[in-house]
Amino acid sequence: MAQLVKDIVSRDVDFGAWYTSVIKKADLVDYSTTKGSMIIRPYGYAIWEKMVAVLDAEFKKSGHQNLQMPMLIPESLLNVEKDHVAGFAPEVAWVTQGGEETLEERLCVRPTSEVLFCDHFKQIIKSYRDLPLLYNQWCTIVRWEKTTRPFLRSREILWQEGHTMHETSEEAKQETKRMFHIYEKFQREYLALPVIVGKKTEKEKFAGAESTYTIEAMMYNGYALQNGTSHYFGQNFAKAFGIQFLNREQKLEYPYQTSWGVTTRMIGAVIMTHSDDYGLVLPPKIAPVLVNLIPIGKDTDILEKIQEIAKMLRENDITTTIDQSEKSPGFKFAESEVKGYPIRLELGPRDYENHTVTLVRRDTLEKVTVSFEEIVMEVKKLLEEIQNHLYQRALERRNAMLYEAKTYQEFKQIAQEKPGFIKINWCGKTSCEEKIKADTTLKSRCILEDEVAEGTCPCCGEKALYKVYFGKQY
Ligand SMILES: [Zn+2]
Repeated sequence: MAQLVKDIVSRDVDFGAWYTSVIKKADLVDYSTTKGSMIIRPYGYAIWEKMVAVLDAEFKKSGHQNLQMPMLIPESLLNVEKDHVAGFAPEVAWVTQGGEETLEERLCVRPTSEVLFCDHFKQIIKSYRDLPLLYNQWCTIVRWEKTTRPFLRSREILWQEGHTMHETSEEAKQETKRMFHIYEKFQREYLALPVIVGKKTEKEKFAGAESTYTIEAMMYNGYALQNGTSHYFGQNFAKAFGIQFLNREQKLEYPYQTSWGVTTRMIGAVIMTHSDDYGLVLPPKIAPVLVNLIPIGKDTDILEKIQEIAKMLRENDITTTIDQSEKSPGFKFAESEVKGYPIRLELGPRDYENHTVTLVRRDTLEKVTVSFEEIVMEVKKLLEEIQNHLYQRALERRNAMLYEAKTYQEFKQIAQEKPGFIKINWCGKTSCEEKIKADTTLKSRCILEDEVAEGTCPCCGEKALYKVYFGKQY
């Protein structure tokens, strides 16, 4: 068992190397000959599928329909909205050749699909009766990233992107909020992530948006991970694309638009928040397998009993796997920890005689002995406890890494000495944001809309308009 664990670099020694080794040992991804892209292995993909199932149901419940857009965008279409193209041009991949033929107009591989949706909306929106249009697509996008890290940043990204059109700005703004609330709730309740939600600054907002809301998660090492965004576009794209509808007064008007998305980055956030030096730790609500059953010894009675228990658990909607390999029990235990199964169930000869099993929870590695009759009840109870404990533990750790600085000196000192997020009053000027980044490498995370700024901006001394979190980011 020592060997498996030894291969995982300590989280406190080298966080980056630890993250990569956990992912590799748990068999979530593999590297591909296609540089900068990852292969999501079946166990990693199963986590994604659990996430997709919950979110897709939420999207449909709130009236959205799935569709599928083309993957390639003609250059002329990408160029229609100026801010958008300027924002994405540096990381776009181009198709210039089709078979033997050099294309007259090059095509970009979608870095996001706003322009494709607008092109389509222009054709199908005629009247207020056509609104709202609430669409979503699950797909991959390509952004030519220079440095990549599994799940967090890769050239090809698996995600969902919602795109909606509305009669009024009020309704579109509501939609922007409704969707980040769905993300926020999902990340708290399912991923056990204590996320912070706020508005991006002008400098950090999405290219072409009027405003961008962000879900900011804090990783174990205090780094920020932007874990979902929801954008309000106003009429920017509608005007650029000439999308108009006849309103209730029979006048032509431009509709109001939103888009919103989350990616497999959420898997990275789960790992970087909850996992440890023994390997993966998964919140039960998104773990593909909840209980790993390990028979100790080769006694057929024990093997039969293990099968029986597994069947009983499955009948109670608890997913299971049985480790019947030839490996030693110690090795099996370590492997179970590496894979992050929320509960390990051990059954050895002595347990069998006593009509008991040992349950080991992955988050704390604590053991409990329970009788055969109590297994289902205890497992259900433990799963709930693990889910709650992971959230509480992450919340406490995050709260311990939230700071507030009154002066610029104090800000720089915290930035240098302590990982985490630092809250300051801010004047709203991009020049201060840029100075802060140049001096400390910290970027603005989000404006806290519910908090009132008082006093002055510690960077320039002018009147403060906002409370903003700054932090280092992935
Ligand atoms: Zn300032």
